Amino acid sequence: MTAATLAPTPVAAIRRSPAELIAAGHRSYSFEFFPSKSAKGERTLWTALRRVETLNPAFVSVTYGAGGSSRERTAALTERIAEDTTLRPVAHLTAVSHSIAQLRTIIGRYADAGIRDVLALRGDPPGDPQGPWIPHPNGLNHAAELVELIRECGNFSIGVAAFPERHPRSPDWHTDIRHFVAKCRAGADYAITQMFFRSEDYLRLRDRLAAAGCDTPVIPEIMPATRYDQIDRFARLSNATIPDDLATRLRTAQHDPRESHRIGVDHATELAQRLLDEGAPGLHYITLNNSSAAMDIHRALRLPTPPGQRQREETPG
Ligand code: FAD
Repeated sequence: MTAATLAPTPVAAIRRSPAELIAAGHRSYSFEFFPSKSAKGERTLWTALRRVETLNPAFVSVTYGAGGSSRERTAALTERIAEDTTLRPVAHLTAVSHSIAQLRTIIGRYADAGIRDVLALRGDPPGDPQGPWIPHPNGLNHAAELVELIRECGNFSIGVAAFPERHPRSPDWHTDIRHFVAKCRAGADYAITQMFFRSEDYLRLRDRLAAAGCDTPVIPEIMPATRYDQIDRFARLSNATIPDDLATRLRTAQHDPRESHRIGVDHATELAQRLLDEGAPGLHYITLNNSSAAMDIHRALRLPTPPGQRQREETPG
């Protein structure tokens, strides 16, 4: 028997996928990280990952740098999470600047490392994210095509993006929903939303999807708005509307970090609670590699049991 055959199965591989967890009547709580560029950033990231690990989340996701810029770092971090932690990693992948052959190679590398979870995204043009989309000459045009490609490559759990305030490039809601449904029909198992700050936006999206006959679970993304300058910039980039009262309170407190943190955590906790009360299938927290705000929100929700699937298998959430 070789060393390879004796290697233990990574914990990630025996955890349920987000869609399986939700289908079994549980909620999926998860956290998003990005691959760091520096040694200091790496230490901060791993401190945050280890803290989040104590909450036993359903998964952690690792973003893919704009324009494919973090290809190597995303793969390396995702693999290390699978090997060295008890967490289930979900690797983001975008079609930007990649040929189909390159995308197949990346997907194959994930499969070789035992990673079975990919968040399939079209991505935005490098340089100016709001500029015109320029496909790679031998690449893909839309996320639905990437979902199909991943399905062809093996047995993956596939997530896609959803937009509670509509994708900025979609001319109208009807078109937006039609293209979202196409991603689901191509083989997506679940979706994670863009950040948003008003529960009505998520609930209206859910109603629109139900009216279109689409029952793919859509996990709301929770962005703790703990700094005015940062959230203002992110909201512009992602087309999210910040409610006036939240913007005013954050602007007033911008020189008081503790108060600003409290305002962001309180607002996100209220939003998350309303979404759970309305039946959202889970929550996906943006951490920006600093877990404190996301963990504060998660704890403030006072969920009955730890959020990971092993505990929650006994008690549907
Ligand atoms: P698509 O589903 O392809 O949609 C893009 C636009 O094309 C939409 O307007 C859609 O209506 C339209 N469209 C779709 N299909 C067709 C068709 N057949 N014909 C005509 N039009 C069509 N970006 C990164 O670079 N790295 C990341 O790690 C990352 N992570 C993300 C995580 C989440 C949860 C979310 C919500 C977004 C993330 N993004 C990331 C951003 C994402 O890549 C951009 O928002 C991108 O503009 C849209 O990607 P998509 O997968 O939704 O694309």
